[in-house]
Amino acid sequence: MAKPRARGEARFDGGEPLNPEQRDARGRAAESETGRSALRIGVLALQGDFRLHVQALERSGAEAVEVRKSEELADLDGLVIPGGESTTLLRLIDEGDFVHALEKFHAVGKPIFGTCAGLILLAREVQRPAQFSLGLIDAVVERNAYGRQRESFEARGAVALGGRTAPIEMVFIRAPRILSVGPEVETLATHAGDPVMARQGAVLAATFHPELTDDLTVHRYFCDLVRRARARTT
Ligand code: GLN
Repeated sequence: MAKPRARGEARFDGGEPLNPEQRDARGRAAESETGRSALRIGVLALQGDFRLHVQALERSGAEAVEVRKSEELADLDGLVIPGGESTTLLRLIDEGDFVHALEKFHAVGKPIFGTCAGLILLAREVQRPAQFSLGLIDAVVERNAYGRQRESFEARGAVALGGRTAPIEMVFIRAPRILSVGPEVETLATHAGDPVMARQGAVLAATFHPELTDDLTVHRYFCDLVRRARARTT
């Protein structure tokens, strides 16, 4: 197993965020590929490691938008809630009146992808300690479940996406553990017998950080979910 990396030290070949011209060029390329405008995917940018998600989405061909106000959700096709500290994120989404806006976003079928703290926010129930969560995926999660010694670690695993299994490197940072999932939840990846990536309808969640590797498998999968959801609603 490779040496764990601290957050921010990602091996990532995306370099600096794209400038607006580069971003437009990506958007136009995506447009000509699909014959429709590029997907507009927001990344909640209140706290945590949102910048690497922006880069991974752009490298996957989407237009990525940093979201700091709840009104900004209105013209997005999908949203990523990044890792960070879930208690801080909770306070900020409450102060920014995001709770109702996120519920509405989910109710109209727009996809949401939560990683790590983002998953904790989306879960039906949070343990140790119990805290408010949005309940948009039927999963019970335990925070900081891997103890001090294994606060951050990497593991090789496999994701099962759309009938295909792809190898994947998973980076865990003070990760939660998914203790159980409901019958509507599809487990897409496991580690040591626990689900580490799961989907319920338009809600995708991972306990690890796909934005910290240069593998775009998971972000591309999310972009596909967003594309399909948009095709259904337009
Ligand atoms: N331990 C954090 C929490 O409970 C999550 C860690 C992360 O997002 N990398 O909120």
